[in-house]
Amino acid sequence: MTKKLLFLFDTDAVPSVFDTVVGYDGGADHITGYGNVTPENVGALVDGTIYTRGGSEKKSTAIFVGGGNMAAGEAVLKAVKKRFFGPFRVSTMLDSNGSNTTAAAGVALVQKAAGSLQGKKAVVLAGTGPVGMRSAALLAQEGASVVLCGRSLDKAQAAADQINQRFKVAISAAATPDAASRAAIVKGQNLVFSAGAIGIELLSEADWKEEASIEFIADYNAQPPLGFGGIDAMDKAKERHGKIVFGALGIGGLKLKLHRACVGKLFESTETVFDAEEIYALAKSMA
Ligand code: NAP
Repeated sequence: MTKKLLFLFDTDAVPSVFDTVVGYDGGADHITGYGNVTPENVGALVDGTIYTRGGSEKKSTAIFVGGGNMAAGEAVLKAVKKRFFGPFRVSTMLDSNGSNTTAAAGVALVQKAAGSLQGKKAVVLAGTGPVGMRSAALLAQEGASVVLCGRSLDKAQAAADQINQRFKVAISAAATPDAASRAAIVKGQNLVFSAGAIGIELLSEADWKEEASIEFIADYNAQPPLGFGGIDAMDKAKERHGKIVFGALGIGGLKLKLHRACVGKLFESTETVFDAEEIYALAKSMA
């Protein structure tokens, strides 16, 4: 039987161990990781995937684009797709730092619990990383009015501009350099997402529990201290202080199932491109 080969094109120096493990769990027979992949050097790698197998065997080769920088991952995906022509293509997935699968799982779970996100006011704390950027995009596409925060306005604005251009939405940016500014920005919001780097508390329990407007909080950081004080990483639609809470591991179960399912589906055809929209559609069907 033709071996299912997954090629990991990582924009970071070292290909991700996490993406390698989940790739095997998703059904790949062999995974080859490349680091420091750029739009300039990816062409020859793509050629190796598209010219080596024909007919029904070609679908057993697939590409996964990862790494810690969303813009860099998007640029590599664009270069990969540009290299394809006619039947010379293989299925490809973009998931920089788990961005698409994690954000899709988080937003799909909140969307399911809320019924609709249309008209909701949402804030994404530390939203400038891959997971926060994709969460902001998906929330906006669901009709929420979204503010993306980061410690510097320039970085937050650059992230918002990139999302607005890519997704045709109107996310705004805000600077939240400290605990006081983060506490202030969640006032009046309905949905609060915390997408900060691992092991950093962004909002204390006192800063969210009394805020009447907040209906849902969702955290992606699984390593204590968690993104929100007063929650448990395992929370999955758990009611706390009258709000519905999702912790990182409560979201992570669906994220892992989704990530594996996407990898499995890469080997079903040569035509699939999994990016935010396709992965979110799948997340909603699995949530
Ligand atoms: P990231 O790029 O590592 O960090 C996100 C943002 O955190 C950064 O852009 C930065 O924003 C902010 N930040 C960094 N250090 C900070 C500090 N000391 N104080 C305040 N803010 C700080 O994150 P990511 O890759 O997007 O991932 C987001 C979170 O999701 C991480 O905690 C990651 O571990 C988690 N994750 C969870 C799952 C899951 O299944 N639950 C899957 C994948 C990832 P500014 O510089 O703009 O302030």
